[in-house]
Amino acid sequence: MLIFRKPIAGVERPQMPADVVIVGGGPAGMACALRLAQLIDAHNASHPDAQLSKENIYVLEKAREIGQHCLSGALLDPRSIQELLPDFKKDAPLDAEVTKEAVYFLTQKGKFKLPITPPFLRDHGNYVISLNRFVKWLGGKVEETGITIFTGFAGSELLFDGDRVTGVRTDDKGVDKEGHQKSNFEPGYDLQAKVVILAEGPRGSLTKQLIAKFDLAKNANPQTYGVGVKELWEVPAGRIAAGEVIYTMGWPLTTKEYGGAWIYGSPGSGPNDNVVSLGFVTGLDYEDPRLDPQRVLQEFKRHPFVAKLLEGGKMIRYGAKSMPYGGWWAIPPVAGNGWMILGDSAGFLNSARLKGIHLAIKSGMLAAETAFEALTKDDSSSATLGAFQKKVESSWIKEELWKVRNLHQGFAHGMYAGMFHTGLQMITGGRGLRNRYPAKAGYEHMHKLADLSADGGAEAHMLGPAKGDGKLTFDKLTDLYHSGTKHEEDQPAHLVIDDINICNTRCVKEFGSPCQNFCPANVYEMVEDASQPNGKRISLNPSNCVHCKTCDIADPYQIITWVPPEGGGGPNYDGM
Ligand SMILES: Cc1cc2nc3c(=O)[nH]c(=O)nc-3n(C[C@H](O)[C@H](O)[C@H](O)COP(=O)(O)OP(=O)(O)OC[C@H]3O[C@@H](n4cnc5c(N)ncnc54)[C@H](O)[C@@H]3O)c2cc1C
Ligand code: SF4
Repeated sequence: MLIFRKPIAGVERPQMPADVVIVGGGPAGMACALRLAQLIDAHNASHPDAQLSKENIYVLEKAREIGQHCLSGALLDPRSIQELLPDFKKDAPLDAEVTKEAVYFLTQKGKFKLPITPPFLRDHGNYVISLNRFVKWLGGKVEETGITIFTGFAGSELLFDGDRVTGVRTDDKGVDKEGHQKSNFEPGYDLQAKVVILAEGPRGSLTKQLIAKFDLAKNANPQTYGVGVKELWEVPAGRIAAGEVIYTMGWPLTTKEYGGAWIYGSPGSGPNDNVVSLGFVTGLDYEDPRLDPQRVLQEFKRHPFVAKLLEGGKMIRYGAKSMPYGGWWAIPPVAGNGWMILGDSAGFLNSARLKGIHLAIKSGMLAAETAFEALTKDDSSSATLGAFQKKVESSWIKEELWKVRNLHQGFAHGMYAGMFHTGLQMITGGRGLRNRYPAKAGYEHMHKLADLSADGGAEAHMLGPAKGDGKLTFDKLTDLYHSGTKHEEDQPAHLVIDDINICNTRCVKEFGSPCQNFCPANVYEMVEDASQPNGKRISLNPSNCVHCKTCDIADPYQIITWVPPEGGGGPNYDGM
């Protein structure tokens, strides 16, 4: 069941006509806006009597500043940015070109370097970037074209007319905790749009609404996800070269969990340091509800190989974000009557390569070409927008994702089975044992406490909160402080729990309240309350939320819905 914050009743909302509304100003949304502007400019140059306007094309971005909510590794495969902006190298913020890569398998104290880097992890020709700086740069290019980017505005609801999406309602501002208007109340706008493009990133909230309303996922595998917890470190010069890339598998995960780490080197701001981007992606299909992905990263850093790299350095930034792992079979239809879905919202991510930026950009470009056709024909029905689906299927997006279509599903029974399936899939063009491997949603893998060993067994070192030594490892609140997260405190909670009784009566007993563990920002707490049957009640700190969407994805009862908070609130990522 989908639960959203109740809209304030009896409010008149300003109506605003729009040609195209793009919800989400990440790489997909920005690339879409820029390509659309390029096509309109080219059209106008050759059609002086049939000019198209860019005035009514809008990008909505919930962050206060462009790029502020974007977090990634990040290595950029330049394939699509090269197509969009052939001169990108002139002024794009590229930190370093990849010169060296290695893949290690870690045991608790040891490491084995793979003699050959698997083809999908070869990164020569790619660039180390900070996604939020890259998106800021791309956003600047969009603004130069005359397209308006509304920062600090979230798309909070879709508008429908029967089976057609007719627009987007933006968030109300100035609403208090109880849902009453404050003195600074401003109702959201109803943007009545010919074409609505959803580019909200992973587990988009409007995308979720759309998929549920039209049952779009009925023929797809359930989407599965991982959550990446990241820190940025300044380390003494010489520890890692700018452009050096390290991937690890194994420790601290056991053979049962899916995931791995990245370490990327960038030049530092001063002569005596390097910046290291490091993070751990944990598949959100683990069994033990006590597992804590932020702790996984802390344990990873305690490995001698990583600890040595970071010794004498300083953690400067923290953040977390989910990513869709499900691959080709988990992608729902991406176009319909009045709408298209792009990037991570659709699931265009190559989990074998840990890369989605290039696919997000390419999907944005293809959607722009389709929207352009819709504007010139003045028809945004599925007859016209359906072309986006076909464009994706005949582009290199499908070619790339088809080869890894069964990758993540192959790991459903652990690492050894996963390696066997991966090997087989590599020699059969992605097929493996059958054309389509099935999948179940990640939360369905979670076991009840009664079925797990009380001491955590082989997973014990990843369970419960990290304490942190304050130098190499950190507790969640210390980490969170480095994400710059801020929200207006007096607003309705943007984590909507369908039935709190389930948290206080069933979940606490059956799963031990896993929200406390999987949330990388300490939003969920079980506090003492003698009036409750189990002596505890759930309490929320929504202001801490870094918008990673893990709770919406991993909650075993599927009763948590993440909705956009008042626009402008959230993390303040810089260099992430
Ligand atoms: C930890 C991690 C490491 C990764 N490493 C790499 C890597 O090295 N290389 C690579 O290519 N890919 C990597 N990826 C994947 C890559 O970051 C994504 O595929 C890519 O960012 C997807 O782009 P997007 O535009 O679809 O979504 P996003 O980048 O998520 O952007 C979505 C934007 O929409 C905004 N938004 C969301 N909802 C709303 C709303 N309702 N209203 C208004 N605004 C909204 C968000 O604030 C955000 O700015 C990584 C991902 C993660 C999480
Ligand atoms: S509340 Fe949910 S979306 Fe926010 S940081 Fe925690 S897990 Fe992520």
